Amino acid sequence: MTAAVIDGKAFAETLRERVGRLAVDFTVKAGRRPGLTVVLVGEDPASAVYVRSKGKATEAAGMKSETIRLPAETSQDTLLDVVRGLNADDSVDGILVQLPLPKQIDEQAIIAAIDPNKDVDGFHPVNAGRLATGLDGFVPCTPLGCLMLLRDSLGNLAGKDAVVIGRSNIVGKPMAQLLLGESCTITIAHSKTQDLPAVVRRADIVIAAVGRPEMVKADWIKPGAAVIDVGINRIDAGEGKTRLVGDVAFDEVKDVAGAITPVPGGVGPMTIAVLLRNALVAAHRNAGVPLEKGAI
Ligand code: NAD
Repeated sequence: MTAAVIDGKAFAETLRERVGRLAVDFTVKAGRRPGLTVVLVGEDPASAVYVRSKGKATEAAGMKSETIRLPAETSQDTLLDVVRGLNADDSVDGILVQLPLPKQIDEQAIIAAIDPNKDVDGFHPVNAGRLATGLDGFVPCTPLGCLMLLRDSLGNLAGKDAVVIGRSNIVGKPMAQLLLGESCTITIAHSKTQDLPAVVRRADIVIAAVGRPEMVKADWIKPGAAVIDVGINRIDAGEGKTRLVGDVAFDEVKDVAGAITPVPGGVGPMTIAVLLRNALVAAHRNAGVPLEKGAI
């Protein structure tokens, strides 16, 4: 069997175009553009790249993008004041504090200070609770993007056996909650799971969110299973070069799986597209402009 390769890049482009059209409608109705503000503390080069691409994508979708850059030595109290200011600013619909933060700042305290209705990353405990209890809220962008790809590729997910490898608050746990919401039977595997290959082998859906290059092998996969690879790992490609690989050994797993996301070009592009989608939803809610159910 050769797996269908799930084209996350194309799906993300279509989603971004849809967000762009709805952002124009919103601007006409609300008399202002949807606004997303990103806060970057320090000069971590990878974070700076992410923040720049988020800003560009926000503007390209017809939204107002603002980036607040603060020095690496910013105190927790100063950052809390910045977050509170953004909470109170009606022109700001979505707030994203880029992680990781410098060591002197408690990330959980900052996340908890963001207004849950502006928390477009979906990391606030209130939004985690809403997801766990089936209420409307913001869902972390990467797992929501994975769910969109799965629904598009498989249709109804009810009754499927899903194994999520990884239990982070950002990917693994919300992914499992989303799949439970689709009536899948869920197993969350992690670093202490015994006989991981045997656990993964019973899955119709495998989500790999570990951060270990090409860990998931072909003989772990039930023939025909859908494999979603969240991992982004930079490895040595020889001659002083590097390349990106996922947590799944793509070249061998594609011969067993029914569908698979590549790295790059699978889950990665979905994360920013879903961020824009969340910011658009936040704008509608915060401005009291109705958004048709299922429009996005
Ligand atoms: P994390 O380090 O917070 O969590 C990793 C999880 O993997 C942990 O729960 C741990 O228990 C589990 N784990 C570690 N070793 C294991 C092993 N040997 N067997 C089974 N489980 C094991 O990472 P994260 O933030 O959830 O990210 C996971 C990966 O996804 C990383 O490669 C990250 O770069 C990538 N990521 C990609 C996107 C994207 O946009 N595509 C977004 C977020 C994260």
